[in-house]
Amino acid sequence: MYTQSTSLFERAKKLIPGGVNSPVRAFKGVGGTPVFMKSAKGAYMYDVDGNRYIDYINSWGPMIMGHAYEPVVKAIQEYATYSTSFGAPTELEIKIAELIISMVPNIEQVRMVNSGTEACMSALRLARGYTGRNKFIKFEGNYHGHADSFLVSAGSGVATLEIQSVPGVTQTVAADTLTAPYNNLPAVEKLVEEHPDQIAAIIVEPVAGNMGCILPQQDFLQGLRSLCDQHNILLIFDEVMTGFRLARGGAQELFNIKADLVTFGKIIGAGMPVGAFAGSTEIMEHVAPAGKVYQAGTLSGNPIAMIAGYTLLQTLNENPDIYRQLAEKGAYLAGGLQSVFSAAGIVHQVNSLGSMLSVHFAEYPIINFESASGANNELFKHFFHAMLERGIYLPPSAFESWFLSNALTTEDLDATIAAAKASIAVITNS
Ligand code: PMP
Repeated sequence: MYTQSTSLFERAKKLIPGGVNSPVRAFKGVGGTPVFMKSAKGAYMYDVDGNRYIDYINSWGPMIMGHAYEPVVKAIQEYATYSTSFGAPTELEIKIAELIISMVPNIEQVRMVNSGTEACMSALRLARGYTGRNKFIKFEGNYHGHADSFLVSAGSGVATLEIQSVPGVTQTVAADTLTAPYNNLPAVEKLVEEHPDQIAAIIVEPVAGNMGCILPQQDFLQGLRSLCDQHNILLIFDEVMTGFRLARGGAQELFNIKADLVTFGKIIGAGMPVGAFAGSTEIMEHVAPAGKVYQAGTLSGNPIAMIAGYTLLQTLNENPDIYRQLAEKGAYLAGGLQSVFSAAGIVHQVNSLGSMLSVHFAEYPIINFESASGANNELFKHFFHAMLERGIYLPPSAFESWFLSNALTTEDLDATIAAAKASIAVITNS
């Protein structure tokens, strides 16, 4: 029963464009009415009609320890009594900077912002200001937020809504965005050769999560690193999804590859609106007021957001075993889903790494946006709805990664695999 959700959606549509404050929430990719949530605890979310869901979105990534994680909730409650914003520096900002720099390799300074979009937009401006070059390379199906420069061949909602070119992004701006297929090093080399001394940065999701979950192939990231070194281009790892999720130090640690700039979001704010960009002092000192690359924010370093992020990062820093547990859960779920699809004779690809995972119904490997788009996304829609009816909340698009939280138990994973089996049985019989 979705009575309350249905009536709330009708009300919302009159007041908010498409009824939602961020496009993918509207279920456009899968059809139907979005579910309105009321509360969540641990691995479960509860909607306004009283339905319970096992959550595989995790608020799109931040809730790695599950919802309403007690230490975070307590810290927010305490700090809210001191004031919700000062607009002046606090010691807390130093403490979170120290913690982030101690966890993440290759960074010496960090600037806090309010979203992943801001982090990527600012990192790109910094790369341009630092190198004195205008163009940059991004990958088809990667998503770096909704700043104009990034809305070219973008993944996530842009892909789900099948928007080829975003109105409002001028051709002049888009002309400085060069794109290549993910996992295609020769295509990147060609772009670099064609634009000598013009490319400021290559920005990449080191594990892509905005066209489903797609892993970097052997030597792809290392190849980008070498290319950047040869041509004095900055390598930006967009770790908004992967940061503090794949490992304490993110993809840089996992793959042992150094990025020049790194962007963060999601986990760094524990569900509060936070992002950050970071790099060496040499590069970061170009940011205002140390340097002239201007970047600012009324609410940047907000005390409530900082204490939430700091508390969650402390948990992750002090308990590295969490990453082993998450990886085990991810592998268990991936294996269970693969068995279900195989037994039913359904072609499938389950891409997974650590606590990121996605399902594509295709017989060939999903390695870039083209292959992800060619999968049977009609079947995914049916699968999504059948799972939702069985209390499993998946991302409402095949172009999004699933995220596991460490609050998931083996029973939850087994229930998910059983729901997948029942869902596939219903779909194939109808
Ligand atoms: N980069 C990546 C890799 C992302 O996944 C996202 C959001 N999903 C962003 C940037 C933008 O972050 P935000 O939505 O916080 O602006």
